[in-house]
Amino acid sequence: MKTVPDYFGCLVFDDRIMKTMLSADVYAKLKKTIVQGEKLDLTVANAVAEAMKDWAVSKGATHYTHWFQPMTGITAEKHDSFISPASDGRVIMEFSGKELIKGEPDASSFPSGGLRATFEARGYTAWDPTSYAFIKDKILCIPTAFCSYGGEALDKKTPLLRSMEALDKQAMRILKLFGNEDVKCVRTSVGPEQEYFLIDEDVYAQRKDLIYTGRTLFGAKTPKGQEMDDHYFGVIKPRVAAYMADLNKELWKLGILAKTQHNEVAPAQHELAPIYTTTNLATDHNQLTMEIMQKVAKRHHMVCLLHEKPFAGVNGSGKHNNWSIATDTGVNLLSPGDTPYENAQFLLFLCAVIKAVDDYQDLLRISVASAGNDHRLGANEAPPAVVSIFLGDELTAIMDAIVEDRPYSAQQKTSMKLGVNVLPKFARDNTDRNRTSPFAFTGNKFEFRMLGSANSIACANIMLNAAVAASLKIYADRLEQAEDFESALHEMIRKTFKDHRRIIFNGNGYDDTWIAEAEKRGLCNYRTTPDCIPHMLDEKNVKMLVGQKVYSEAELKSRAEILLENYSKTVLIEAHTMDDMVQKQILPAVVKYANDLAVSAVSKKALVSGLACSYESETVAKLSALSDSIAQKVAVLEADIERTKSMEDVIELSSFIGKTLLADMESLRADCDAAEMLTSEEYWPFPTYGKLLFSVR
Ligand code: ADP
Ligand code: MG
Repeated sequence: MKTVPDYFGCLVFDDRIMKTMLSADVYAKLKKTIVQGEKLDLTVANAVAEAMKDWAVSKGATHYTHWFQPMTGITAEKHDSFISPASDGRVIMEFSGKELIKGEPDASSFPSGGLRATFEARGYTAWDPTSYAFIKDKILCIPTAFCSYGGEALDKKTPLLRSMEALDKQAMRILKLFGNEDVKCVRTSVGPEQEYFLIDEDVYAQRKDLIYTGRTLFGAKTPKGQEMDDHYFGVIKPRVAAYMADLNKELWKLGILAKTQHNEVAPAQHELAPIYTTTNLATDHNQLTMEIMQKVAKRHHMVCLLHEKPFAGVNGSGKHNNWSIATDTGVNLLSPGDTPYENAQFLLFLCAVIKAVDDYQDLLRISVASAGNDHRLGANEAPPAVVSIFLGDELTAIMDAIVEDRPYSAQQKTSMKLGVNVLPKFARDNTDRNRTSPFAFTGNKFEFRMLGSANSIACANIMLNAAVAASLKIYADRLEQAEDFESALHEMIRKTFKDHRRIIFNGNGYDDTWIAEAEKRGLCNYRTTPDCIPHMLDEKNVKMLVGQKVYSEAELKSRAEILLENYSKTVLIEAHTMDDMVQKQILPAVVKYANDLAVSAVSKKALVSGLACSYESETVAKLSALSDSIAQKVAVLEADIERTKSMEDVIELSSFIGKTLLADMESLRADCDAAEMLTSEEYWPFPTYGKLLFSVR
């Protein structure tokens, strides 16, 4: 039997393969492009393309595709075969450097938020050599960025790469000041923990809401949900275990470092976490992971739900973005060091993050905004919509000591001096217990916990990297000019801690009193997607993102528009689906059941005189009242859907949808769920929550 190391990465054109398949010269030049971003010349590209094709064909591949991440949030691909006619009527397999480097998909159907109208009709894809090519379903996939001809990014990868570059540039300036001469580059790394649900494909197929929207729009609570806490870390059912084993294998073949798997809090909910890697690879890998999760589920006759809130009443699914900054020499810059000097450097990077998160809390909130995630944030199962940082008691005490110029503990005699005092060793456990914080320091990294399970992690990391780069730039500008480096450094750290103290919160983020407190502190609380997205274009945000060369102003405008448009479309599809299910399934079922009860009562009374048949008549009365109310509410929903058609402004539309349409839907659902409780299961037109949540045995 093959062991994991035998097949790990067997579908990836990785460094190992490149070394064996490329000439030393070509390999060296490609490496330069990968590590230092140097431009690739066409002869090198031709040689790489040739080798890539030979390798892919030897693995059974027939086609290639430029694999990219348009703003739909999922990945896109268009397949071209390698075949090229030969003179004798046969074909040969060909792939040129030009085809490797650049592709021209017909991009007009991808969302561009008006960008292409103002620039160019078509877009092109460009190879990202920092992410390895791989084979998926016999297709050679080449990770690419997607731009308009004017150079505007039409995807999520381009700004992500730009944000990594921005952070690299500023962090390098700081590292130079600390005398780190051997460091060549700084990268952020990410380990995203991914939650998901698994349900049986038969019950899935009977629910239009799941099919059209990925979440249930109706469903009365089950007698048993997650109240016993018996699912979290519980024994994994054989069918799920088989799925996980198969999934791991597929991911490992693609070089994805799937590491941890366990059951989550809700029934049918699970989690997978990989070992962290460089941010753009982690992003590509997470997109692939989500895709493969769904594909492997099919093979096991199940459906993998990645929606943030597939079921009301039990926890939804999120994603934790574990994030840190490291040098190419392997130093984690968010890890407290052993020497006073390393500690000062650590504290400065820590400050950069604190300042970034406080200054751009709105951008972080925006980066996780989606219709699905709105159901989670602030619903006592995920962090609130308010961004704050958990630092842990020890680090907070140190911070306060620095601000107040005093010792941080009884053991320490003199006041806290950077570059002189050694920080205490943090016990990892002490810093990792608060699970309610949206942004928690966990010893040597930050865990950003607001992401939704279906979100691409690109957006969160773009904002995070850019904002931290902006803090570092301010520090570097100041420190490079300082006459006395150490006192300038001390002052800067002190000032940051003092100015941004409000963003630190070590308490329970699910507590309502925190929301009130946060408001007093002046922190943003944007509850919904329509509330937050317009702030993407606030002057300070545009200035920072354009200044860091992460987005142009036009790109930002287009993104805000696309995000709001996506939101509106998503909720509208849900509203239409509810309308359909109510009219064609729920009302007919309720009416039929009520009628059968009425008929039964009448015939029983005819048979036996003096019978009350109070159960039947009361239930008929209740169901009739409910069906009338449902009919009225669905009419209101339809009228409100109609009203959206005349709204042209994306902000007005999304805000109406977020306030009015969602409220209509909630109210309609309440009646339908009440009717479900009174109706015989035999009559109910689709599987109930009990059948869905406990469908996999
Ligand atoms: P938890 O207590 O949240 O399970 P773990 O240490 O298991 O914490 O880490 C969870 C995730 O964090 C994993 O994906 C792991 O690879 C990632 N991680 C660990 N160290 C780092 C780091 N330095 N940078 C980014 N991610 C990291
Ligand atoms: Mg975690």
